[in-house]
Amino acid sequence: MLKRFISYYRPHWKMFAIDMCCAFVISAADLFYPVVSGNIIDEYIPQKNLRMLLIWCALLLGIYILRSALNYVVQYFGHMVGVRMQADMRRDLFSHLQSLPFSYFDKNKTGAIMSRIVNDLMEISELAHHGPEDVFISIVTLAGSFVLMCMRNIPLTLIIFAFIPFLVFFAMRKRIKMNNAFARRREEVAGINATVENSISGIRVAKAFQNLDNELEKFACSNNSFVDACRQSYRAMAEFFSGMDLLSNLIMVVVLLSGGLFAIYGQITPGQFASYIVFVSMFFNPIKRLIQFVEQYQTGMTGFKRFCEIMDEHPEDDDPGAVEARDVRGNIRFQDVTFTYEGDKNQILHHLSLDIREGDTVALVGPSGGGKTTLCHLIPRFYEINSGAITLDGVDIRHLKRASLRAAIGIVQQEVFLFTGTIRDNIGYGRSDAGESEIVEAAKRANIHDYILSLPEGYDTYIGEHGLKLSGGQKQRISIARVFLKNPPILILDEATSALDNVTEQMIQSALDELCRGRTTIVVAHRLSTIKNADRIVVLTDEGIKEQGTHDELLERGGIYAGLYRSQFRA
Ligand code: ADP
Ligand code: MG
Repeated sequence: MLKRFISYYRPHWKMFAIDMCCAFVISAADLFYPVVSGNIIDEYIPQKNLRMLLIWCALLLGIYILRSALNYVVQYFGHMVGVRMQADMRRDLFSHLQSLPFSYFDKNKTGAIMSRIVNDLMEISELAHHGPEDVFISIVTLAGSFVLMCMRNIPLTLIIFAFIPFLVFFAMRKRIKMNNAFARRREEVAGINATVENSISGIRVAKAFQNLDNELEKFACSNNSFVDACRQSYRAMAEFFSGMDLLSNLIMVVVLLSGGLFAIYGQITPGQFASYIVFVSMFFNPIKRLIQFVEQYQTGMTGFKRFCEIMDEHPEDDDPGAVEARDVRGNIRFQDVTFTYEGDKNQILHHLSLDIREGDTVALVGPSGGGKTTLCHLIPRFYEINSGAITLDGVDIRHLKRASLRAAIGIVQQEVFLFTGTIRDNIGYGRSDAGESEIVEAAKRANIHDYILSLPEGYDTYIGEHGLKLSGGQKQRISIARVFLKNPPILILDEATSALDNVTEQMIQSALDELCRGRTTIVVAHRLSTIKNADRIVVLTDEGIKEQGTHDELLERGGIYAGLYRSQFRA
């Protein structure tokens, strides 16, 4: 996994190398101060050498100006490396998500996927640039100080360095505890958000059922857990900071004591003593960075693991040797098809065979849950069948390129999804290269043109979150216009009018009748009046196809269909 992570550095290696070089010089520059201050105390002050004092101070000033310039580069390039890597990963993730099959989206909620694209990648980006920088700078500073200090006095250096592992160990432990507490706190906040969202969305139901106490109680519960999580996190934070404070000051005292003793007994000079004090006061920064790195590594890698999990999901590849579906006529045949949803035990379709001839309208009826929608979704290969075959004009759909197969099929569903954007964008979604006149023609055929013109902004009317709210029937007509524009040889109407009232349904029905003309159509409807004229009616239940024939044949037969029909028309 680390290798995969590192591979994302490759396109930005130049920027990254510059960043690291600057980081090296910056940390090396920091080592000058203690050395110079020691020299000043030991040599130039006793000699009253004003010239050397000025030279060294000027030199230090120059070094610091350079350091600041390099710091600018590190801050800027370092962050840009992180951001670019994040953008690359997000691009890969997004395009991979687009290629994943329906089954993936059945299992994973939109919110969870969003949080991966946004939050996880942010963490990864932080790790990507701060990680190597932190490790590098800390090691250079600590190792450099160690060497320079040993050059002055080895025993004293060892005494001081002996404390560092304790400091690091303590800091790590407390930091981890603190982070866990903060993570829990974030979860609690998410819990509160979810509770509020659910309650507010359902406020009408809650009021109607007078269930407000219940809602308050649920909320109080989330709210209390939040306070509890905060208490834990602040306690951990207090332990960390007060402990670190004590330990670091303890080290300073140890330096004064041991260094003072060494100086009194003439083992080191006062200048060297001063250098030690400065060196040690510089330690805390690299140690802090190392600890920060460990934390960032944990969260960043957890995020990266989740990123990899999605990237490793199998996309919908075309089979090798798949061909384009050309000049589709629309003969669809299910041959002994068995289908089970992934991770589900129930067989939805069991050795089902069905023949749909070019240009025919075949209606699917039957109880809810009988598998009508499932059957429709198998034709564009939204899901993979377990056994048997589905053929289009005699060719197994698995041997066709998915894009060309789907281009041949238009779907109108009960639930219409319109994208945020203008009405024109939404109709134009049917075919990206369509011109204005074609869009208008499609709208006319879907009986929505006049309505669109009645809007002040016409086809430019914005729909979506902050745009125009359309009624169910209007939305459905836009979705029908979308399919008119696409003009596919095969049409699937899955309960296209089921959510609409009778009057609206009739208005839409004429558009649908027009849409079906000259196409192979599979129509699912629970209002049987709409499918009376189908060439064939197929009754599908969870036991498979129970009856098929024309409306008259099925009525005569007096089976399930006849029963359904009579119950709907008794009124
Ligand atoms: P119909 O359209 O006839 O009402 P469906 O095809 O929607 O029936 O559903 C048939 C069965 O498949 C139902 O039992 C339903 O619970 C199940 N089902 C539908 N969609 C999924 C899915 N995405 N994952 C798992 N099971 C599903
Ligand atoms: Mg259905």
